Amino acid sequence: MTATDTSQSRKRPARAPKPQGQWKVDGKEPLNANEVFKQEDDALNVRSRILEKYSKEGFSSIEESDLMGRFRWMGLYTQRRQGLGARATSDLSDLELADEYFMMRVRVDGREISTEALRVLAGISTEFARGTADITNRQNLQLHWVDIKNVPEIWRRLESIGFETTEACGDCTRGYLNSPVAGVAADEIIDPTPYLQEMHDRVVGNPEYSNLPRKFKTAATGHPSLDVVHEINDVSFVGVEHPELGPGFDLWVGGGLSTVAHFAVRLGVFVPPERAADVYEGVVSIFRDYGYRRLRNKARLKFLMKDWGPEKFREILETEYLDSPLPDGPAPEYSGQRGDHSGVHKQKDGRFYVGATAVVGRVSGETLAKVADLAEQAGSKRIKFTPHQKIIILDVAEDKVDALVEGLVDLGLPVYPGPFTRVGMACTGIEYCKLSFVETKEKARTVLDELDKRFEGEVIDPPISVHLNGCPNSCARIQTADIGLKGQLIEGDTPGFQVHLGGSLAGDNVPEGEFGQSVRGFKVPADDLTDYVEKVVRNFLDDRSEGETFAKWSRRAEEEKLK
Ligand code: SF4
Repeated sequence: MTATDTSQSRKRPARAPKPQGQWKVDGKEPLNANEVFKQEDDALNVRSRILEKYSKEGFSSIEESDLMGRFRWMGLYTQRRQGLGARATSDLSDLELADEYFMMRVRVDGREISTEALRVLAGISTEFARGTADITNRQNLQLHWVDIKNVPEIWRRLESIGFETTEACGDCTRGYLNSPVAGVAADEIIDPTPYLQEMHDRVVGNPEYSNLPRKFKTAATGHPSLDVVHEINDVSFVGVEHPELGPGFDLWVGGGLSTVAHFAVRLGVFVPPERAADVYEGVVSIFRDYGYRRLRNKARLKFLMKDWGPEKFREILETEYLDSPLPDGPAPEYSGQRGDHSGVHKQKDGRFYVGATAVVGRVSGETLAKVADLAEQAGSKRIKFTPHQKIIILDVAEDKVDALVEGLVDLGLPVYPGPFTRVGMACTGIEYCKLSFVETKEKARTVLDELDKRFEGEVIDPPISVHLNGCPNSCARIQTADIGLKGQLIEGDTPGFQVHLGGSLAGDNVPEGEFGQSVRGFKVPADDLTDYVEKVVRNFLDDRSEGETFAKWSRRAEEEKLK
C-alpha cells in the first residue's frame, strides 16, 4: 500500500449537505415542530373550528396547536397576560404568557375604506375590543381584548364591508401595502390597485399558498414618493415608465428587517401590468418551494435571495414559473418627495386629500367613528390608512379643507404635527405583546411630544425619525429610523433601549436606504430617552455640514457625540 493509498483510506467520506427543508430540493419531510403542525392540518381549516366549536365552547376548548399555531392564519394571536413584568418575557413560555383574549389583525390591503365601512370598524372596536384600534405600519387595523366568543360576529360584520382577517398573520401572504394615494395622486405613474386585487384573489385563502416557510410581505406603489417601504418587503412592485412598453412595475425581492435586516434587491426586470399577478404567484411559489424551512430564523425569503442572488432568482422565476421571460426594465426614479402624505395635497381631479397623523398609530373606535363623520362633513366618502400610520381623507373640496383640518386636530389627529411626532413610530410593546421587554406606545407618544416642544421654532428638515421597538423583532422598523431604539432590560431590571443611528429608506427623503448602526455598547434607560434624543439631535444641528442628513452625519461623527 502506498502512502497515497493510506491517506485515502483514512479520509472521511464527504458529508451530504444538511437538508434545509427546501421542498423542491429536500422533499417535504417536516424538520421542526412548526412544519409538522402546518402539514398535519392546513392552517386555513382552523376557521371552521373557530366558528363551530371554539366560539361556542369558549377559550378552554381550544386545542394548543390551534391556539399557538393556526389561529395566526385567522389574524389572531393571544395577547400578553396583564400584570406580567418584563422579566416574564424571558422566564415564561409563550403559553404561560398568553391571556385568554386575542389581538385581532384586520387586513386592509391598502384599499380605500368607505365612511360606512369605517363606522363598522369603529363599532367592532367599541363593542368587542374595549375601544382599542391601532393603525399598523402595514396599513392594517389591530384590535385587542377580543373574546373568542365574539369572533364569528366580528367576522360577519367585517365580511359585510369586504374586509377579513384571513392570513393577516402566520406563514403566508400577509396584508398587502398599496400606495395610499393610488388612483388619486396627480403625479402617479400607475395605479397598482387592480393588480394587487388580482394577486390577493389568486393567493389569499388559497391552500396552494397557505403553507409558506415564514411570513411573506407584499407591497406595490405607482407614486413617485416611493411610499410603501418597498426596500423591506419580500416582494415589491414599484411603478416605472418603460421607454417602449409604457407604465408597469420594477420588481424588488427579498427585503425584510427583524433581527437580521436585508434590503430587497432589484431583479432588473420590467413587469407589464397584465403579467403582475403571474409574476407574483411565481415569486410566492419560489418561496414555498425553495424557501429554507429547517430553521425558522433562516426561513424568510431574504436568506434565499442572499444565497441565490438576483440573477439566479430571475432565471428560476422565468424558467420554472413563467410562460416566457420578462423584459429588462428601468429602476424607479428618486423624486425627493417624502412618502408619508402628511398635510394637504391636490388630487388629479382638482380636489384635495388630507393626511393626518395617528400618533404612533394609536386611535380608538370612538375616534374612527368621528373621522367618518368629519370626512362626510367635508364631502368625502373615502379614507385610507398609510404605511406611515397616517389617516388620509380623500376627495375634499377646497372650501372644506380648513374645517376638516381643524376637526382632525381637535380629534388628536394633527395634519401638521411637529417633526418628531410626524415621523415617530412605536410597536405594540409590553402592553399587549408577549415578546416585549418595555412599554413603547405611551413612552413614544410622550417623548415625541416633549421633543417637539423642546425644538419648537427650530428647523429640522427632513424630520428626524425616532422609532421604538419592545424587542429585537423590528415591527417599528428600527433599522431604518434615524434613531432606532430596541427595547431590553438594562442594568438588572431597568427598562431601556439599545440605540441604532442613521437608518433610512428612499421614501424618507434620502435617495438610498441605509440600515442604522448600533452605537457600541450604548444603552439608554427609558426614563432618560427624551434627554438623550435631544442631546444627540443638538449635536447634529451644531455639527452638520450644509445639506447633510442625520444618517450621513451619524456615520462620521465622533462617538461621544452619539452618546
Ligand atoms: Fe412585539 Fe417585538 Fe414586535 Fe414590538 S417589535 S410588537 S415587542 S414582537
